[in-house]
Amino acid sequence: MAELVNSPLGTRPSLGGTPKRRASMKVLMRNVREVVLGNLCFETWYFSPYPDNIIKGSRAKPTDTAVQNLTTLGGDGIKQDGIVCERLYVCPLCFRYTPDEVNYAQHIMFHQEKQKFGELMPVPDSAEKVYEWDGYVVWEVDGEAEKLYCQNLSLFAKLFLEQKSVFFDTGGFRYYVLTYTAQGSKGRGRGRKRASSGVDEPLFKTQVLGFFSKEDLSWDNNNLACILVFPPYQHRQLGQLLMAVSYKLSGWEWEGGIIGGPEKPLSTMGRKAYLRFWSERIARFFMASIFEKTTKRKTGFAREEMTVKDIGDRTGMLAEDVIAALNDMGICDIKPAKRKQKISGENLDTKVINGHSDAEEFEPAKMVVSRAKVLLWIENHKVDLVAPAREEGFLGEWALSDASDEVEEAEDQSDA
Ligand SMILES: [Zn+2]
Repeated sequence: MAELVNSPLGTRPSLGGTPKRRASMKVLMRNVREVVLGNLCFETWYFSPYPDNIIKGSRAKPTDTAVQNLTTLGGDGIKQDGIVCERLYVCPLCFRYTPDEVNYAQHIMFHQEKQKFGELMPVPDSAEKVYEWDGYVVWEVDGEAEKLYCQNLSLFAKLFLEQKSVFFDTGGFRYYVLTYTAQGSKGRGRGRKRASSGVDEPLFKTQVLGFFSKEDLSWDNNNLACILVFPPYQHRQLGQLLMAVSYKLSGWEWEGGIIGGPEKPLSTMGRKAYLRFWSERIARFFMASIFEKTTKRKTGFAREEMTVKDIGDRTGMLAEDVIAALNDMGICDIKPAKRKQKISGENLDTKVINGHSDAEEFEPAKMVVSRAKVLLWIENHKVDLVAPAREEGFLGEWALSDASDEVEEAEDQSDA
């Protein structure tokens, strides 16, 4: 069981209610019109079970001055019935919330004071870094030890997640929170600026951009329960980074680790984001581990036969996810099952994937993936061959181990 189910990512989903869905429309009706997160103000997408008695009281429209200080992020067609709170102020660090602007300002000042003395952690004190690279840090937060933080984070996330129920018992889950510390002075968030001074910097040196959660013990080998990149920070491949981290943390490369995937069913947006992630992962794997090797080998047939499961075992992916990605990429030529005959060398740089038919006299159906097709896919999709999570960025138990292992590990990086 997950605390949050399904995962929209990327672009804003529409609320086009099909008749089948009408029964759940009440649940989907937004109760908060917009949120202020740090110095950004943006519209919510979905209902979140914030307690009515706390978020009520802001029914009044924002003051004219406040409106003047905002520039619109973009229109939407989302139904506005059911709004209990016009504007909810959410702390960008601890996710506590209030409909009251004054309370909010006081709360923010409390954090800013701490920042002056250099005591400010962007996440709860008990959190531990699992990944750090180029200003981006992923922190592990224990849902049992930091219940309030994780509940508040879940409530905020629900504003942007469809078909998810929020479980208030966050014990049994770990939250992996992504933060970014600006390297220069450029602002990172897309959204309406609240301050009239034209301030473009974040309120704090470090911002929380999104997170994913994971069940401590998943019977279904799920490596991720819920994922969200906050709307102002979407379209920057941060979801891909979080997914890559979630795969790494499943420990699939090591003994005792699991090969898994995200909790299913995925939402439409979640599936789209994952297909992209899986496809890129497979493309990198082919380029680095298969074609690279076969190109170097000057003699013999530069082809390698493997099953879908082999690909999964070498990329940490479930066979079903490998198949979904291969289908989506459209890089496979299917060779139907035929009477067994000796395979003669055909194209150089071609690899063959075995089907799973056991028919004695028939050669099983095969899919042929050619280097040219993978290259074309990479080019068309503008794929960066550098993996979204850098192997060198992992810390603690996930870090590259010994110097002696480094050569081997470096080779493996391309798989990740
Ligand atoms: Zn706070």
